[in-house]
Amino acid sequence: MNNVISVETAVCAEHQRLLEQCQGAMDIWNEHRAEFCKSHPISKEAGDELLRLQAKYARAHTVFERHEHNCLLCQFVSRAVERDSECSPGIYSDSIL
Ligand SMILES: [Zn+2]
Repeated sequence: MNNVISVETAVCAEHQRLLEQCQGAMDIWNEHRAEFCKSHPISKEAGDELLRLQAKYARAHTVFERHEHNCLLCQFVSRAVERDSECSPGIYSDSIL
């Protein structure tokens, strides 16, 4: 048994792409939130912008989770390694689930 697929080579490119998209959206959202929090009171435009960024992150996260759920390669990888690079589900509290 010397033909075990190494985890490195089994990483799903689409998974990486979606993860980066998800983390990128979250970074932008966090940045804007921190920025707007400094300037009270928050204007309506800023509030709308935050909601828009939050929705964008939520959407990216949903796509990411759906991919993980449907992708055979990702399921194989997630079984093979501890998932430690998961996109932080910051806005998903237990109350939603
Ligand atoms: Zn995948």
